[in-house]
Amino acid sequence: MSRPVAGVLSDLESVLIDAEAIRQRVQALAAEIQADFGPGELSVVALMDGSLFFVADLLRHLDLPLHLHTLTVSSYHGGTSSSGRVNMAESLPFSLKTKRVLLIDDILDTGLTLSSVQQRLLKDCQPEIMRTAVLLRKQRPREQDASAEYVGFDIADEFVVGYGMDYQGRYRNVPYIGILNPSKL
Ligand code: 5GP
Ligand code: MG
Repeated sequence: MSRPVAGVLSDLESVLIDAEAIRQRVQALAAEIQADFGPGELSVVALMDGSLFFVADLLRHLDLPLHLHTLTVSSYHGGTSSSGRVNMAESLPFSLKTKRVLLIDDILDTGLTLSSVQQRLLKDCQPEIMRTAVLLRKQRPREQDASAEYVGFDIADEFVVGYGMDYQGRYRNVPYIGILNPSKL
């Protein structure tokens, strides 16, 4: 007889944004992005791992010829607040020179991650144009000047998980965006 498998959904205190709201908003964002960029090739740079689900859903609504590049960056180190440092590869594994670039991340929080990546890509890669999309933007003062042209949802300054976003590597597979039960932090 198989033993019951412990789920993760019971670790969440509440649902902040449900799966259907995410689906609709992501589809609308894709339409906005497609209209703004117009026809022609797009180079997508997706920041891993947090934007994995967002990118997968967003891109399938873009009817454009595109190249997908991923870049692994981290500023969180297992906790719920920014470490203040951004780790990124010394040499970038793609060329974006004269390309039209869409940079994608999951959350704009302190701004440290996006400002570091934006500066790095502009300086090292010289794209023709670069715009940024984030699924979530936290309403809080930014420590670094970073902004995004496309924002899925503005949320309060609280720690969220699900739809690709983790806490200590877990909860990425939660199909909605939720708040963890404080006893799990
Ligand atoms: P920033 O550098 O803007 O402070 O933080 C951006 C990164 O921190 C995001 O790409 C995301 O990976 C992580 N992050 C920020 N806030 C949250 C949050 O509420 N939940 C999770 N899981 N990650 C977060
Ligand atoms: Mg991230």
